[in-house]
Amino acid sequence: MIDFKVRYCTNCATPLAPIEQIEDSGPKTRLRCPACGWTHWNNPTPVLAAVVECADRGGRLLLARNAAWSQRMFALITGFMEAGETPQQGIAREVAEETSLQVNALTLIGVYDFQRMNQIIIAYHALAQGEIRLSPELAEYKLFAPADVRCWRAGTGYALADWLRSRGHEPQFIELPPSA
Ligand SMILES: [Zn+2]
Repeated sequence: MIDFKVRYCTNCATPLAPIEQIEDSGPKTRLRCPACGWTHWNNPTPVLAAVVECADRGGRLLLARNAAWSQRMFALITGFMEAGETPQQGIAREVAEETSLQVNALTLIGVYDFQRMNQIIIAYHALAQGEIRLSPELAEYKLFAPADVRCWRAGTGYALADWLRSRGHEPQFIELPPSA
């Protein structure tokens, strides 16, 4: 997959071009710099996600709607992993920044591809508590009993489905996917 959004070499600012080169797996066309040979590898970006279970609200799950979404969809708390943090630190930070909830315990649910956005999703179950105050990125939240929550057919939705199965709930899917 070639990412044509990146147009210039980050090394020397020459416009990139699709150039075939022999790699370990054979000839491969990627965006490369014709001047200095720099390659835009276009590796997937790690995104952290959390199924947030509110320990002080009867074990209900917090799903939130991103302010940038046009549809009224509720989804997991997500954020980009930052340099200098572990995935566990990163998702605890994202949950705190986006909801102000304090994470008490994290369990890895799984790792999921999200190829449309060229992301790899590392999904945790987060047991959290505290007062809920949303960041401006989030428009609203809803609390769901695990048996009532609906999943969607994209990376984070599959993570939610896997977690529900681990708790003995057969996941129900809706057909409109959110953007993350
Ligand atoms: Zn260059």
